[in-house]
Amino acid sequence: MIEAHSVEQGGGTLSCEDAVAILWDYLDGELSPEREAAMRAHLEACRPCLQHHAFERAFLDAVATARTSDPAPPGLRTRVTNMLRAQGLLP
Ligand SMILES: [Zn+2]
Repeated sequence: MIEAHSVEQGGGTLSCEDAVAILWDYLDGELSPEREAAMRAHLEACRPCLQHHAFERAFLDAVATARTSDPAPPGLRTRVTNMLRAQGLLP
């Protein structure tokens, strides 16, 4: 099970900035086990990131529903990136 406050264990410390940066890879399941564990730990400990994780998860689900087998169009990713930037989560 995931232990709370374990952000600095295993895969190393993830800042919120790092968590947002790798969120897409996390959602795509492309992280190394260590990074994924660090990401899970961060989401457990960091409510703001968890909210954004839920937001992106919902967004990706919408994208997945809209598409068949093709990758999401680049414009969708740009839109989400702009939304995160507008909320101060990206530089
Ligand atoms: Zn965070």
